Amino acid sequence: MTPPESLRHDWTLAEIESIYTAALPDLVFRAQTVHRSHHRADEVQGCMLLSIKTGGCPEDCAYCPQSAHYKTDVAQTDLLDLDVVTAAATQARAQGATRFCMGAAWRDIPDGPEFARVLDMVRVVRGLDMEACVTLGMLNQQQADALAEAGLTAYNHNLDTSPEFYGSIITTRTYDERLETLARVRRAGVTVCSGGIIGMGEDRKVRYRLLRQLSSLTPHPESVPINMLVKVEGTPLADLPDEDPLELVRTIATARILMPRSFVRLSAGRLALTDEAQALCFLAGANSVFLGDRLLTTPNPGETHDQQLLDRLGMKLTAQTAVPANAGG
Ligand code: SF4
Repeated sequence: MTPPESLRHDWTLAEIESIYTAALPDLVFRAQTVHRSHHRADEVQGCMLLSIKTGGCPEDCAYCPQSAHYKTDVAQTDLLDLDVVTAAATQARAQGATRFCMGAAWRDIPDGPEFARVLDMVRVVRGLDMEACVTLGMLNQQQADALAEAGLTAYNHNLDTSPEFYGSIITTRTYDERLETLARVRRAGVTVCSGGIIGMGEDRKVRYRLLRQLSSLTPHPESVPINMLVKVEGTPLADLPDEDPLELVRTIATARILMPRSFVRLSAGRLALTDEAQALCFLAGANSVFLGDRLLTTPNPGETHDQQLLDRLGMKLTAQTAVPANAGG
C-alpha cells in the first residue's frame, strides 16, 4: 500500500492527459493494478442516498431538477421527520448499505431546529453502525464542527467540473466558495466526499482539469463520486447528446490512478449504462455504488438488479464500514 506521504498532489495536466488518453487496455490495467494495492478487487461499498429535503433550491446548477430556477416535475418537500429517516436508514442497512447519505436542497445550512434535526439524523445513522454522509450546501465552521461532534463521517460537496467550465454550469456560487466549504469540512475532522459530473457538454480538457483539482486537494478526498449527467426535462442540460460511457470509464480509471486510496464511487447515471459498461467501471477502479431505485430525485437501478449484477460478476458488497467510527469526531 502506498504510504500517505507518497500520494501525489501535484499531477500535471500533461500527465493526466497521458493517463486518460492511453489505450483503454493499458489504462484499465494500470488502474486495476493501483486499485488492487489499496482495495479488494471483488468488493464494492453499497451506499444509500436519501433526499431529506427536496426541491426549491435557490442555486442554479444547470443539471439539477431541484433548482428553483427550472420548471421540472420534482415536487418540493420540507425536511423529513427523524422517524422517516430512521426507517429508511434501517432498511438501507438491511439491504447491505454501509454508508447512508442524506441530501438537502439548500444553498447553505439554516441554523435552528432544522439543523438540529439533521444532527439527530447523523446520530441515528451512526447508531446503526453505518457511515453517515450529508450534503447540505455551504456551511460555516461552527456547523462543520457541530456535524463532526454528532459523529458525521463525510460531507459531500462536489466540485462538479473544472474551474474554467464551472461558470457555464453554475452562476449562483463560486468555485472558491466550494473549495472553502471543503476546507471547513476538513478542518472539522470530517472526511471529504467530492467529485464531479461528466456529460455536461464539457470536453476532455475540462475533465483533466477537474481531476487535477480533486487530486491537488491535500489530503485527497476520501470519497470521489463520479457521475454521468442524468438529463432531466426542464433543466438547461436536458437536450445534450448522450455521453460515451467509455469516457466515464476513462474518468474513473484516471481518478483511481491519481487518488489511489480514495473510494471512487460510480454514482448518478448508472441507468444509462449497460451491465457490461458498469463492469468496466469496476475494472477501472470504481469501488462503490449507490443502491436503491432513486438517487435523490433521479432513477437508479433497483436492489434486485444490482445484486444480480454483482452475482454475475462474482463481486459482493463490502460488509463493514470503511471508515473508523470516530472519523467524524
Ligand atoms: S445541485 Fe444542490 S445546490 Fe445545485 S441546485 Fe441542486 S440541490 Fe441546489
